Amino acid sequence: MQTFISFEEARRIELATVAEQPVEHVSLDEAQGRTLAAAIDSRDTIPPFDNSAMDGYAVRAADVQDVPVTLPVAGQVPAGMSPERAVAPGSCVQIMTGAPVPEGADAVVPVEWTEQAGGDRVRVRRAPETGQYVRPAGQDVQVGERVIDVGQVVTPPVVGMLATLGYAEVAVRVPPRIAVIATGDELVEVDRALGPGQIRNSNGHALAAQVRSAGAEALPPLLARDDKADIRRIIEEALSADALLFSGGVSVGEYDLVKQVLDAMGMELYFWKVRQRPGKPLAFGVLQGKPVFGLPGNPVSSAMCFEQHVRPALATMLGRQRVLRPRHPAILDVPSPKVENLHHFARGVAAFADDGRLHVRDTGPQASNLYSSVVRANCIIHLPDGLAEAEPGLKVEIEWLDWAGIG
Ligand code: AMP
Ligand code: MG
Repeated sequence: MQTFISFEEARRIELATVAEQPVEHVSLDEAQGRTLAAAIDSRDTIPPFDNSAMDGYAVRAADVQDVPVTLPVAGQVPAGMSPERAVAPGSCVQIMTGAPVPEGADAVVPVEWTEQAGGDRVRVRRAPETGQYVRPAGQDVQVGERVIDVGQVVTPPVVGMLATLGYAEVAVRVPPRIAVIATGDELVEVDRALGPGQIRNSNGHALAAQVRSAGAEALPPLLARDDKADIRRIIEEALSADALLFSGGVSVGEYDLVKQVLDAMGMELYFWKVRQRPGKPLAFGVLQGKPVFGLPGNPVSSAMCFEQHVRPALATMLGRQRVLRPRHPAILDVPSPKVENLHHFARGVAAFADDGRLHVRDTGPQASNLYSSVVRANCIIHLPDGLAEAEPGLKVEIEWLDWAGIG
């Protein structure tokens, strides 16, 4: 067991420990938000055939270089039909947007450049260039082209591309099922009145929501008393999940029993305590093959440890290509309290300023019980281990907390 390790080392251990989920096949309309388990190589050419970009007339460009010129209209190609015959020299065929361009034609004259000349003839006023308004086969996607990488999340445009390419079903990772276990004698359920010394179990619900926003499945939240037998019973129930998340019970208080029970049940503890703030007492291990995260109970610590440790682990289990949120350079506009040998995850509010750069300030007092700081924040400010002071003007890195758009 390691202790007081760096934030980076903790994350390296977590990501090296978790395993990728199995693969399942789902229909295209159920695939949104899922993670692709295989790359998508196009089986088709898109568009599949040369087609018209305009409603107009398919012509041989050479026939309409001296304008105005009047041509006989030899037929019509609506969208969805194939042309009956080639365009003969000196003639044209009426064509609709998306319809296949007939043999012989090498340009389309938009209807706006023409007028009816009577007796199935059309007068062309303006000359197209060769190839104009013809969308060639394969202009968008070639056969065999890698269009979507493995590990991409199925977003609306991915759905559109999969449909274009004829994928009615796709291979995706089975979402990991996560047991969320809140612990503490002081906790009551949200719909109950508070008695003396009691608080509501907010972490259980917030963590379940974070699990879902990470693309995993949250099992119904569990609540354990500060009692070894109760904790053990709940752990046994939770072991049907793919990973376990505890809130509370991992610091050094007298009632911090979760670690003791897990230990007695044979958990291999990989580390306990990380040089980070908030969330120093974070514990991580493996029990019966299942990764176990012991998150500190303070709500800010719980939320930040999820974002920095659990979310990347879930993304790894899902086989995602992007496991970490990107970080962006920003200028710190206010001082933020800093302990030199801890990596801080300060809650921040960032915006682009008139200088075109990203500026950020923290949300105010950063104590780990002040959950409103998480609600107000639109980003996490990283203040690394080794940095003694965080003064205005400091170049920092932020990651957006894009709750609604995550994935
Ligand atoms: P612990 O890690 O169990 O020592 O808890 C640290 C702090 O977090 C205490 O003030 C607890 O009351 C609080 N806490 C623990 N679990 C929860 C929870 N599920 N919801 C809200 N607060 C909690
Ligand atoms: Mg507790």
